Amino acid sequence: MGKTLVVGAGGVSHAAVHKMAMNSDIFTDITLASRTKSKCDAIAKSVKERTGVDIKTAELDAYKVADTVKLIKETGAEILVNLALPYQDLVLMDACLEAGCHYLDTANYEPEDEAKFEYHWQWAYQDKFKQAGLTAILGSGFDPGVTSVFAKWLKKHKLDTIRQIDVLDANGGQNDQEFATNFNPEINLREVLADARHWENGEWKVTPAMTHKVEFDFPGIGPKNMYLMYHEELESLSTHFPEIERARFWMTFGDAYITHAKVLQNVGMTRIDPVVHNGVEIIPIQFLKTLLPDPGDLGAETKGKACIGDIATGQAKDGSGEKTYYIYNICDHEECYREVGSQAVSYTTGVPAMIGAAQVLKGNWREPGVWNMEQLDPDDFMDMLNKHGLPWQVHELDGPVEF
Ligand code: NDP
Repeated sequence: MGKTLVVGAGGVSHAAVHKMAMNSDIFTDITLASRTKSKCDAIAKSVKERTGVDIKTAELDAYKVADTVKLIKETGAEILVNLALPYQDLVLMDACLEAGCHYLDTANYEPEDEAKFEYHWQWAYQDKFKQAGLTAILGSGFDPGVTSVFAKWLKKHKLDTIRQIDVLDANGGQNDQEFATNFNPEINLREVLADARHWENGEWKVTPAMTHKVEFDFPGIGPKNMYLMYHEELESLSTHFPEIERARFWMTFGDAYITHAKVLQNVGMTRIDPVVHNGVEIIPIQFLKTLLPDPGDLGAETKGKACIGDIATGQAKDGSGEKTYYIYNICDHEECYREVGSQAVSYTTGVPAMIGAAQVLKGNWREPGVWNMEQLDPDDFMDMLNKHGLPWQVHELDGPVEF
């Protein structure tokens, strides 16, 4: 159905490219490009062994827009799937505009020296993409991504309005590491240590990171402590569903993770500004990333399940008053590893990236412009989740959440 250029060859890319190769009727021709070509070649080798599909690989520094434009033209890619880091979003969007290619990513743009998690930089591309007749899909991972599509599906099929929404992200996975993040350590720690903002009654309420803790009994996992934190879909959901009175995001962390993260922060190892060490400028969080395990390598040793979903309350479509629904997926780390050689966090991000790109290639999501996932029709995406490894369930709860 279409030629695809994937940029970035980390944990998420590993899962996404395997799933694209397993759907070669949609992804007829795949090129994988990244800064370190050997990582692309390792993924290509695994894809060949597991699926029999050949993919092409290339070396690319995404900051060199002219090189990306050249590669898009050489490969004839209809869509560029950005699975590199949030820092490269804007340069890759620029390349897509210049080369005439659709765009998709899984995380919003951030300048390297500010951990802000705001959409305005990418939303500013709306007119450029519209005028070029091209589509840019923002945040097609699990959260953001599937959690945003879940909200849209509830709004299309169950609720006329959403009064309040909580996104709940639990990783019940265990591995042998004393301290490891489940995706890129630099991005993960920037996110987790940022102030915990949530949307309430028309404004952002701010609390210090990791201070608001609630125990929740997660389906498939059991009771776990989850912490209030900021996550980028809160901005897009409260913008696109303006009736939302309260939107919050929660993620589970074990005590050991929190102790490590706080110590690292207290000693300055998570700083994102340059410091001079022995006459050389280094950015402590980037040095820390070099020391920590690569999350993409943790698949073989990670056991347990992840459960991510939304609890939303609003007026029922059938006029029966206010209703509350919990919609979620449960994903098993070991099953993901058996299927594609990834742990569940790479898998739950890579599969929606594949499905989002499939929506563009199938022609379902082709409206020119820049779109967050909750702005798009959810139905085929939701069907594909069920067919491609991320089945979801929806249950009515007795009433709104009480935490
Ligand atoms: P990794 O660090 O494992 O992989 C990132 C890849 O991008 C690496 O291969 C890296 O190359 C490559 N890269 C970095 N800079 C450049 C550049 N200038 N040009 C070309 N390639 C470059 O990250 P993950 O796979 O863990 O995460 C990928 C993305 O997914 C991130 O943006 C992350 O925020 C997002 N994410 C989204 C989630 C969601 O649910 N929405 C959940 C989890 C992650 P090299 O190997 O040379 O360093």
